Amino acid sequence: MEYNDGERPQVHCLECGDEIGYGRPDRKFCSDKCRNRYHNRRNNPVSSARIKALNAIEKNYGILTAMLACGVSSASLTELEAAGFNPSSCSSCARCGCHLELRCFDLSYLMSSSRIFRLKKAGPEWVGRKK
Ligand SMILES: [Zn+2]
Repeated sequence: MEYNDGERPQVHCLECGDEIGYGRPDRKFCSDKCRNRYHNRRNNPVSSARIKALNAIEKNYGILTAMLACGVSSASLTELEAAGFNPSSCSSCARCGCHLELRCFDLSYLMSSSRIFRLKKAGPEWVGRKK
């Protein structure tokens, strides 16, 4: 096998679209999880939409978690979408005044037509709370 660091063309995971920055040049997936999901979906088209939705929510969660880790609680949708964020994917949502409060598992944020803001991690009492 030939390993090549630095000069290889950008390779993206067939499942999540993340860049694969290491490994064999013919690698198609960033992880075993992505490879399994990709093949499960191909073999079972009925669950395809569900898996795709879960992937999008998990990808959003990763992006939002990274923002919080950097102390960032707001960002434009343009920037977020460039990073792979899907504004229409969340685990739940509720109207909060004139904005939508969206939740991505234990994270919550408000969304306007152009940005998300007030991103925060919820306390344990908040997760699973009744409406
Ligand atoms: Zn992947």
